[in-house]
Amino acid sequence: SKYLLEVQELKKYYPVHGGFLRRKVGDVKAVDNISLDLKRGETFGLVGESGCGKSTAGRTITRLFKPTEGKILFEGRDITKLRGSELRDLRQDVQMVFQDPYASLNPKMMVGSIVSEPLINYKKGSENSLKEEVIALLKRVGLPEDAYYKYPHEFSGGQRQRIGIARALALKPKLIVADEPVSALDVSVQSQVLNLLKELQQEFNLTLLFIAHDLSVVKHMSDRIGVMYLGNLVEVADANEIYRDPKHPYTQALISAIPQPDPRNKSERVILSGDVPSPQNPPTGCPFHPRCPKVMPHCSEVKPELKEVNREHRVSCLLYE
Ligand code: SF4
Ligand code: MG
Repeated sequence: SKYLLEVQELKKYYPVHGGFLRRKVGDVKAVDNISLDLKRGETFGLVGESGCGKSTAGRTITRLFKPTEGKILFEGRDITKLRGSELRDLRQDVQMVFQDPYASLNPKMMVGSIVSEPLINYKKGSENSLKEEVIALLKRVGLPEDAYYKYPHEFSGGQRQRIGIARALALKPKLIVADEPVSALDVSVQSQVLNLLKELQQEFNLTLLFIAHDLSVVKHMSDRIGVMYLGNLVEVADANEIYRDPKHPYTQALISAIPQPDPRNKSERVILSGDVPSPQNPPTGCPFHPRCPKVMPHCSEVKPELKEVNREHRVSCLLYE
């Protein structure tokens, strides 16, 4: 199969308890229903505002979280319900890079130990070669050789993220899910870390799921892009196509918000009214209808499905049905 990962109708709900007896009163539908395939070696950008469920989707796909419903296939194998040692084995192939590199690095551990840890846990590399291997990794991600004996607080934000990337790479995984890996970094450092990820992706033939809240960040990184809104995937397309010809009104609004360097390209900025509704009480019908500039009378009644409108361009909007 050309797909490394196949996600079918995935849901992740969190129960909400309330009242004196703390009974279950509802669900937060963090991921409501997403179907998504990742091709081997591609970078897939998953975009949406904060709270849209993209981080939860990333963590459920990698099985850091248990799905509520749906199916996840990794190299054709069903990993939806893996537990214990099988789940542990999956970690060799699937790794994460987190948003806050400092919070995800143990401050009491030397960088050498942080990056060696996965290799030791999975008994990879011999004791003699381990240190050399880790030093080579640190160098590859652009850290100085003496980083091995230093602690996370001795590094800048961008360098800490490089440590996180080295750790994720140590086991030579097939898939890396990077959850907003640059959004905590200074703008001047962001593109350096993005370039590094892009280089490593090619060099190690990684499949990369790149999560971001900003379409402009994923633009140069991604082969394909998926846009999430309130736990739903509303549009998926080739990266160039989604910028050139966005179909979903939400994607159109996101793209109109990207500053255009060339003033001749100025298109009308679409301002969305209101806030993202609560995922505990999502709107009926199309989840975007309370904010949609193109809303039609039946949009509050019928929930659109993600359907193909062009080759490999899928959109969930009643305008195209
Ligand atoms: Fe807007 Fe209706 Fe399309 Fe939803 S289905 S995005 S409300 S036009
Ligand atoms: Mg997040």
